[in-house]
Amino acid sequence: MILGHDNSHSRVTEETVIPKALGGSVQYEKGVGPRRALAFSRMGVKTVHDLLRYFPEWHLHVSQLGSLQAASTQTETLAIQILGCEEQRRSGRHMMKVLMQDALPHVSLHALCHWTVFNRPYLKREFIPGRYIVCRGRVEKSIWGLQLSVEGDGKFEFLEEEHIAALKNGEMVSVYHATQLLPQGVLQALLTEASRKYASFMPDLLPAGLLKKMDMMPVGDAFRAIHAPKNLDDLQAARVRLVFEELFLLQIFLAERRRRQQEHHKGRSYRVHGPFLEQFKSDLPFRLTGAQRKAVGEIIEDLAKPVPMNRLLQGDVGSGKTVVAAHAILAVVESGYQAVVMAPTEILAAQHGKTIGAWLEPHHVKMAVLTSGLSSKERSAMASGLSSGDLQVVVGTHALLEDRVMFRHLGLIVIDERHKFGVRQREELQRKGEHADCLMMTATPFPRALVLTLYGDTDLSMLDEMPPGRSPVKTRWVHEKGRKEVYAFIRERVQAGEQVFMVYPTIDSKTTRSGRTAVAMTQELSDSVFPEFRLALLHGRLSSREKEDLMRQFKDHQVDILIATSVIEVGIDISRATVIVIEQAERFGLAQLHQLRGRVGRGKQQAHCFLLTSWNVSPEARDRLQALEQTHDGFVIAERDLEIRGPGDLMGIRQHGAADAGWLDVKRDTELLEEARKWAQGLVTLDPGLQSLDHRYLSWMMRRRFEADGNLLQVS
Ligand code: ADP
Ligand code: MG
Repeated sequence: MILGHDNSHSRVTEETVIPKALGGSVQYEKGVGPRRALAFSRMGVKTVHDLLRYFPEWHLHVSQLGSLQAASTQTETLAIQILGCEEQRRSGRHMMKVLMQDALPHVSLHALCHWTVFNRPYLKREFIPGRYIVCRGRVEKSIWGLQLSVEGDGKFEFLEEEHIAALKNGEMVSVYHATQLLPQGVLQALLTEASRKYASFMPDLLPAGLLKKMDMMPVGDAFRAIHAPKNLDDLQAARVRLVFEELFLLQIFLAERRRRQQEHHKGRSYRVHGPFLEQFKSDLPFRLTGAQRKAVGEIIEDLAKPVPMNRLLQGDVGSGKTVVAAHAILAVVESGYQAVVMAPTEILAAQHGKTIGAWLEPHHVKMAVLTSGLSSKERSAMASGLSSGDLQVVVGTHALLEDRVMFRHLGLIVIDERHKFGVRQREELQRKGEHADCLMMTATPFPRALVLTLYGDTDLSMLDEMPPGRSPVKTRWVHEKGRKEVYAFIRERVQAGEQVFMVYPTIDSKTTRSGRTAVAMTQELSDSVFPEFRLALLHGRLSSREKEDLMRQFKDHQVDILIATSVIEVGIDISRATVIVIEQAERFGLAQLHQLRGRVGRGKQQAHCFLLTSWNVSPEARDRLQALEQTHDGFVIAERDLEIRGPGDLMGIRQHGAADAGWLDVKRDTELLEEARKWAQGLVTLDPGLQSLDHRYLSWMMRRRFEADGNLLQVS
């Protein structure tokens, strides 16, 4: 596609943007030469400008180092001395037990600690007794003594004697990602020198107005201090400055992308006070919560504007997102357009089909449910209904993405459990309707800061209030010993006419030590534990018809205890289900556990969740289980998840520049993020397309960072 108005961009080349002093090849810097220059270029470092942006992975200072002795549940940066290692082979896997102690003994008493390294036999040669490494890790006390687990798939860098001496001296040490050809010492010397010589030539990404308003370290100082900080305060000021720059760049990119989308797709405005919608509102059997009313208001406002909506509706499981979406569907249908609802599973699509179908029926809206279970005849009938415009609403799974599903005039796309779909799937659906409005829903609440980062071009509505009459699910972490007690509790509840979910991580895999797979346990439970109750087994290998039959039976109370794998994870609404038992709960992630727990507690009865585990769970798992016991608030859980997993992981963004080098504290930096977003939006409004000469560097950096290799946001 030729974008005529974007021509000016093509003239923005490296030579015109980068000051001469920074444009030279890194090859000619002292100590580099052609071989190292080649190694640098493989990492995207070609010029001196790029070199200055090769930031340290770690900044070490004695006051910031953890110690092996103080075995804590927290991950800390550790400077370690290797004492020896021992190789083992276990069922084809190479294992190496590395014995180590603190590199700076005065940090604490001496403590010996083990790190078990898997499948990296080549390290044996390098792990010479006496050598030092730095890593981020966490030490745990076990019956075998202190055990270290290292973050980032066992990422570490070697340190030299002189680094340890410097640390002992109270000096700061910058540690880079080193390679065979680019060893630590070379990188440190090179970057200290380069930052001294060149940092003052670094152009500023940030607009002058912003710099005046925000009190930040000048750019030249920041590039000097990030490589060779004078002290911790100096470093901190540099980090804030560079993190802000990174956030600003990202927000500029998102704001520009959104501006371009809106420019190319003039949306349409819908009729938002028509009789269908008003009737629907007054017919609802319940009163909307305040949060629902607010979200509906925001959506209606979007629909009335002639710009396509791009909104994320966040709300915990059970917060009532579906009815909010129904408002949008009615408004769009009433304006003569079609709406599509995509859900991640057949069961969920079927449930939406029923719920939404019942709401639409009084208004004679024609709706269909498209799942992969339909015959090809049914499917082609549906396809022709959609392309003729005869069918106004379709609900379905990813089967909707098939090419033959075409619409006459698609107005609204609703995507449920948004996080279950990839960016590409969403775009595929969007391509089926020109300028269609888009409402995404998710029960995995991200902290606001993350939403702004990941979905900077998306508006946000939050359902942070539950419909009345729900009390939080009582959650207990129970060890194996308490199993009998849990069974007794289940018996009591089922006898009282309630229903129970039992969830297992695996169907029938032979590798599970305990043998507690869904299949094995179904046998055991129905033979010897609950012979008097009706049990059924639901798992991902059943056909969609079978799954739906089972779910319907459970919903109709023909089954008391539903044993399942995590296929029941999303969206199912069964109000008589009051107990969920999650076995081997340590094997599920925090967000997933929270989702599973949301399967119960949808009715008036008090609901219970039991997390069953063995005694031996990892510290990370312990954190998750405790977090779940303590809170029921999805937003709090999301923040805990973030703390436990670290932002890079949760954001799913490729490791990129300053903001991801572990420097960004998403909670602390929320304000920075909001500030960056505000300024970015302002700047894009003032200078659409960043055409002004003042913004040349910004524009070039943005395109280089985000557009060169496709799309930055690979959200899973
Ligand atoms: P989720 O946000 O998890 O998708 P649902 O839309 O499935 O939640 O709603 C959960 C249940 O709550 C449904 O049975 C729905 O009818 C009911 N519900 C939604 N809003 C309200 C409300 N304001 N008052 C009472 N019940 C509500
Ligand atoms: Mg839902």
